[in-house]
Amino acid sequence: MTEPANDISLEALLKISKPEKRDVELLTKAYHFSKQAHDGQKRFSGEPYFNHAFATAYKLAELGMDTETIAAGLLHDTIEDGEATEEILKKEFGDEIAFLVEGVTKLGKLRYQGIERHTESLRKLFFAVAKDIRVLIIKLADRFHNVQTLEHVRKEKQKRIALETLEIYAPFANRLGMGELKGTLEDAAFPFAYPEPYRDITEQLRDRKNIKQKHLEKVNRTLQKELAGHGIVDFKTDYRIKHTYSTYQKLLKKEKDIEKIYDIAALRIIVGSVEECYKTLGIIHSLWRPLPGRIKDYIAFPKPNGYQSIHTTIFTGDGDIVEIQIRTEVMHQEAEYGIAAHFAYKEERASPNSNALNKRLRWVKQLSEWQKQVHESKEFLENLRMDFFEHRVFVFTPQGDVIDLPENASPIDFAYAIHSDIGNHASGAKVNGKFTSLDTPLKNGDIVEIITKKSSMPNQKWLQYVKTTLARKQIRSALGKNAS
Ligand code: MN
Repeated sequence: MTEPANDISLEALLKISKPEKRDVELLTKAYHFSKQAHDGQKRFSGEPYFNHAFATAYKLAELGMDTETIAAGLLHDTIEDGEATEEILKKEFGDEIAFLVEGVTKLGKLRYQGIERHTESLRKLFFAVAKDIRVLIIKLADRFHNVQTLEHVRKEKQKRIALETLEIYAPFANRLGMGELKGTLEDAAFPFAYPEPYRDITEQLRDRKNIKQKHLEKVNRTLQKELAGHGIVDFKTDYRIKHTYSTYQKLLKKEKDIEKIYDIAALRIIVGSVEECYKTLGIIHSLWRPLPGRIKDYIAFPKPNGYQSIHTTIFTGDGDIVEIQIRTEVMHQEAEYGIAAHFAYKEERASPNSNALNKRLRWVKQLSEWQKQVHESKEFLENLRMDFFEHRVFVFTPQGDVIDLPENASPIDFAYAIHSDIGNHASGAKVNGKFTSLDTPLKNGDIVEIITKKSSMPNQKWLQYVKTTLARKQIRSALGKNAS
């Protein structure tokens, strides 16, 4: 991915937009409209405000979004900071683009007030997502540029924006499968949110990255020959360096020892088909000994955000341990761009049978499904849209997955929502990094981690404070088994 564009010409924007569906006339009009609307305004950095609008649109084009979204990116601050109104945008650009800009404008008024107070932000975000996911994608592109230019912002504000990026926006990008954007957002926010850990880890990583890469290059040379020898000719390899913030998270949550983070640098192999992915894995394992327990088949078992690849970790033979990731080109595109990969073509977006897009939107659909299970009465369903987020809390797993629960749900509800085994063996919980009892009501935005013990079992008391029917059912069933 490229850095924010230096060239803010219309030509540069047209060039990066997908040519298949490029609506030159629309983009030209939006470009000039935005320039005019922001005329004379400046950013904290002293550069013209229009540069920000442009950078947002450029990012959307780079992600492969449709023309309407790119145009809305150019226009996204014209209501709030420019002189435009929704009526003017409607008249000039039509309902669709006006709706997108209005959606982003509403989200723009949100301010992160610490983890316990962003109920309202999350509610509005989900509401916007439910209506049109593109509103959120524009917001992410907007945030991308804001976070790149954080150094120019006042100190207190820097920290707030950085935390908000890490706590809200990056998890959303992750949930939408936009791996590259998530990593970029996090790494830009990291030094402003946690300056000392940032300095510390950058120091620790400096030499290790180079050493790893050297070993990977050697593995790569051998592998290239072997793959060709086995009839796999159409493949690409490259190296991916792990993002700094995600390395830090891993260090914090799993391995305390940086030596044990084997994927600081990884070799990535992109082959022509799923079959070749498995064949490649076989070739690798016949050449190098894999580390037990580190072979992960995310092709057969994709991550909840849709990520697919095979990961394996091998002993290189010269004393190092490295990770190799195997995937197809389609999987690669999906891993980098996620949901955005499906917006390039109007046809696909419009088709209700578009499988790939539907898979991505499954999460959004899931939310409405759960809502249906909770409210059975017809009137309630009719008000579903408005009521969608009123009586729900959204909490995060440490990996950034969103779990939707009823108000006042407990960590036990959360545990069962993840997996019945986790519920049945829950012994404690950490909420936002602190140990908490299992009956603590969860709040919007909490990050919840369940501690399990083989010997732990559900007890009768749990029934008093669980809120979900799922948890209730599972506890009853477990209690029944134990009684008999
Ligand atoms: Mn903006």
